[in-house]
Amino acid sequence: MNILAIGAHPDDIEVFCGGTLLQYKQQGHNIFIALTTSGNIGSNEYNSREEIGAARELEQLEAAKIFGAEVRFMRFDDQGLQDTPETRRAVINAIRWANPDVILANYPEDASTDHAVTGKIVSEVMLSIPGKLIPADEPPIAKNPSLFYYGTAVGIGFTPEVYVDITDVFDQKLEALKLHKSQFAWMDVYQTHGLLSIVEITDKFRGLQAGFVYAEGFRAFRIHGYMPNFKLLP
Ligand SMILES: [Zn+2]
Repeated sequence: MNILAIGAHPDDIEVFCGGTLLQYKQQGHNIFIALTTSGNIGSNEYNSREEIGAARELEQLEAAKIFGAEVRFMRFDDQGLQDTPETRRAVINAIRWANPDVILANYPEDASTDHAVTGKIVSEVMLSIPGKLIPADEPPIAKNPSLFYYGTAVGIGFTPEVYVDITDVFDQKLEALKLHKSQFAWMDVYQTHGLLSIVEITDKFRGLQAGFVYAEGFRAFRIHGYMPNFKLLP
C-alpha cells in the first residue's frame, strides 16, 4: 500500500505517528510525507524565516530516511496557515502525488491553528480527489483512501478510537524525532517537559489505555464513499 502522512510542521509526523509509519515500513509499504509548512518560525537560532525553513527541511529529509519516505514540502508560512484555494490545491496535489491507500493527518480540532487547518483541508478535499475539474496540477486518482487523524499535542482534547501498538519501534521513533535538532533548542527551553519526554509520556499513556507498552491513537474521518477501513492500520 501507499501510506501518506500529512503534517503542518516538520516533526509533526515523528511526534504523532512516527511509530505507526515504522510499523507500516516493517510491513513493506511505501511511505510518503507531505508538510503544509516548513515550520519557518519554529526556532530562535536563526535570523530569517528562509534560514529556519531550510534548516528544518533538511532535518525532515534526514528523519524521512528512517521511514524510507519520500517528502513533499508545500512551503506555506508557519503560524498562519489558512484554508484558501491555494492551500487546498497544494493539499490535493500532495494526495494525488502519493496515490495513498491510507492518509494520516492532523486532527481538525487541534488547538494549534496550523494543525487544525491542515486537518480540516485534508478532510474537505477528500471528495475532490477523483474530480478532473478540481483546480490541481496532479491528475485525479481513483483510490478511496481511509483517513485517520493522529493525536494532538500531549493528547489534549483528543480521545482515540483506535490504537496502534508501537512498542517494538518506539526507540526508532525517538531516533527519527532526535533528527529535528532545532526543536530541542526551542521546545526544551520553553516547556516544562522536553520534546522526548512529551512523546514518551504521551505514547506510554496511550499504551496504558490500549494495553500496550507504547501506542499511538487515531480517530477516523467519515464521509460517504470514504468510510474508514480499520483493517488497513498496522
Ligand atoms: Zn506541529
